[in-house]
Amino acid sequence: MKKLYFITGSQDLYGDETLKQVALDSKEMAAFLDEKIGGVTIEWQPTVRSSEEAEDVLVKASADKECVGVITWMHTFSPAKMWIKGLQRLVKPLLHLHTQYNRELPYKTIDMDFMNLNQAAHGDREYGFICTRLGLNREVVAGYYKNEAVLKRIARFADVARAMDFSHTLRVAMLGNNMRDVAVTDGDRVESEIRFGWNVNYYGLGDLVDLVDGVTAEEIAAKMAEYKAKYEMNTDDIAAVEEQAKYAVALEKFLKKERIGAFTDTFQDLHGLRQLPGLCVQDIMATGVGFGPEGDYKTSALMAVLCKMAEGREGATAFLEDYTYDLTEGNELELASHMLEVSPVFAAEKPKIEVHPLGIGGKEPPARLVFGGIEGKGIAVSMVDMGTHFRLICAAIELVKQPEEMPKLPVARVMWKILPDFATGAEAWIYAGGAHHAVVSTALTKEDIALYAKLTGTEVVFIGF
Ligand code: MN
Repeated sequence: MKKLYFITGSQDLYGDETLKQVALDSKEMAAFLDEKIGGVTIEWQPTVRSSEEAEDVLVKASADKECVGVITWMHTFSPAKMWIKGLQRLVKPLLHLHTQYNRELPYKTIDMDFMNLNQAAHGDREYGFICTRLGLNREVVAGYYKNEAVLKRIARFADVARAMDFSHTLRVAMLGNNMRDVAVTDGDRVESEIRFGWNVNYYGLGDLVDLVDGVTAEEIAAKMAEYKAKYEMNTDDIAAVEEQAKYAVALEKFLKKERIGAFTDTFQDLHGLRQLPGLCVQDIMATGVGFGPEGDYKTSALMAVLCKMAEGREGATAFLEDYTYDLTEGNELELASHMLEVSPVFAAEKPKIEVHPLGIGGKEPPARLVFGGIEGKGIAVSMVDMGTHFRLICAAIELVKQPEEMPKLPVARVMWKILPDFATGAEAWIYAGGAHHAVVSTALTKEDIALYAKLTGTEVVFIGF
């Protein structure tokens, strides 16, 4: 399991007794947090008393591949010049926990020793100054460390830090290029790697086709058994479904071989494939592998990162496309979908496998999952490239049940209300330059995206909260 370092600051002036107590207290606190915070181990580190020790532990954190971030806290005073060199070499997300070992003051017994030992009010301000002076992107959380609100914020930091660590090693495959002439899905792949760690590369579709041609009958049968267990077969055209099963086996091999965590395809480049990948992409998306259609690498990578952030939480996270509206005045609804690729994590019912012709691309009728979407509060998150920087746009949405059946619509669909109202929300999204592709999540919140934006130094626009 990935870990967070728990680092306590002090200094040498207080003598052994005090430092012994600092170590005991901080060990107990780290153990408590380790028990309460899921998804990561919280690992206690020896008390930092000098510039050398600060540099050693923060360099160690930066180099430790299992460490996704650090929590720092000043039990006593800790003169902050001693933190400069270490903080300059820290490349992991930083949470400054402003807390105390004791909750209440022992009014009857408090003396000078107690005050010198428990002076985060003093030491954390000194330390906070140097973080601000250094211009560090970091999260500051103030409050007693056992408070639910404090634990919740540390847990959020852990989730975001895990996602950033994953992001740093994320390899994205573009099968085909960006859809011809489309602007918003395109972007600066070099800058994406500098900012977010995404290593984005083009792969010829022929590489995948070779793998497709090598898939065996047994492999197809095994994949079909998986599909039958998860989904309802609502077609007689089993051969068309088997075609998608074959793509799925090949795609899984390709992702594994190239260590890919997110991918794109495009209906403009399907040479050697008889169908647009539909069912196979939908099914793979549900495992948290990022996907963006039409060469949309940013949405694909962002989806993988946000799925990692949402790991262990209730709710659904995946790519969706803004498609069409019901503009009934006062009850405007959006219908989100795609040509085929809607993740079954959004399904309100058991998805049906169906085969229908596709009006675009000139290929054979592809198998796909068809379903109506879940209800509940959610967010839609889009990333665009402004030329000078990336921008995240995060909008509040309310997923709703489709008001009527849509028996002729051959694709999965999710419907939602744009908040705070259609005009305000849609206009703000358009002014902000938000894409028609987004990552929609009912597991993540505005606060998660705000923290992600802060720690990655990314501009963010919030709408409807
Ligand atoms: Mn699209």
